[in-house]
Amino acid sequence: MTITSFYPTPRTLMGPGPSDVSPRVLSALGRPTIGHLDPEFVQMMDEIKSLLQYAFQTKNELTMAVSAPGSAGMETCFVNLVEPGEKVIVCVNGVFGSRMVENIQRLGAHAIVINDEWGTPVDVNKVKQAFKDNSDVKFLAFVHAETSTGVLSDAKALCAIAQENSALSIVDAVTSLGGVELKVDDWGIDAIYSGSQKCLSCVPGISPISFSAKAVEKLTSRKSKVPSWFLDLSLVMGYWGGTGKRSYHHTAPVNSLYALHESLVMLQDEGLENAWQRHKNQHLKLKAGLEKLGIAFVVEEQYRLPQLNTVLIPQGVDDAAVRQTLLNEYNLEIGAGLGGFAGKAWRIGLMGYAARTENVTLCLAALADVLVTE
Ligand SMILES: *Cc1c(COP(=O)(O)O)cnc(C)c1O
Repeated sequence: MTITSFYPTPRTLMGPGPSDVSPRVLSALGRPTIGHLDPEFVQMMDEIKSLLQYAFQTKNELTMAVSAPGSAGMETCFVNLVEPGEKVIVCVNGVFGSRMVENIQRLGAHAIVINDEWGTPVDVNKVKQAFKDNSDVKFLAFVHAETSTGVLSDAKALCAIAQENSALSIVDAVTSLGGVELKVDDWGIDAIYSGSQKCLSCVPGISPISFSAKAVEKLTSRKSKVPSWFLDLSLVMGYWGGTGKRSYHHTAPVNSLYALHESLVMLQDEGLENAWQRHKNQHLKLKAGLEKLGIAFVVEEQYRLPQLNTVLIPQGVDDAAVRQTLLNEYNLEIGAGLGGFAGKAWRIGLMGYAARTENVTLCLAALADVLVTE
């Protein structure tokens, strides 16, 4: 058998990510590959830094893109900051909070876990209490937008608690960046990571991060070496940072960074507030249509993520069969439920370029068709 070129069927991506990639971003990927130390490329990296500072709403000098997906951004924050034996209060209200715990434990640090029920936000009062009950806590880690459940937590309030207790905050903004309000400097976030493939309309595989001056100080005053060579920011910064001269650390994913650059230019041109509003508007359209179909939301209204809608599968409906029909007959992907929501809920994403009227219309029409014939 001769294997030939791969041409995927174009799909509409309305799951938990990757989400629809803008055609502008896809065409940026096809531009000529140049050397990763070419002055033109270095200048583009500088532009990515300032575009990311805008997206994150920060002046943090250490703002850059890790050459790997969101999970590597998570790991970058933990391996650079958390040292063996240190205490971290970590909030778990879904899959990604549990992964933070895993990161902390693998570093030989002490995770003080605060559990909240899936489908509910991080309980601010429990976090306050955990700081009272434990002395010398160095960090507070939590997920701003839990993609496994579709819940938004109050990052501003949580970071304020960290600050009052002289702890550094580590925030997962993989699904929140570009989709809902997020203000790194105003909220006093110390270390934050995101992903290219959720609300940025970009291809998967890149993780924007930003560290505050306090986080950089923690990094530079470490007693032990950063246990990961690839993710050690003191080395990576020689590549991404400084004025003019760059030293080789690894080969940047050149074309993927063109894509990220294009997606961030689009975000800048649209305006952050407008992007947040677009996600909200499309969410409201989707919500109105789903309610007409008798489909209810899992999460209480005030905590819902506009970009990730977790809804109850109607009684008697075959979860897998419906998702398969949507994919085969409508080229539409929606997400399955995770954990306790497996088989009980769908996750309908409206992230980045997927947050458009035509997507909402397609999804509602397809669901209406499929549920009638079920
Ligand atoms: C998707 C996601 C991640 C992981 O990102 P990858 O790019 O899949 O590695 C981490 N945290 C949250 C909240 C996510 O939604």
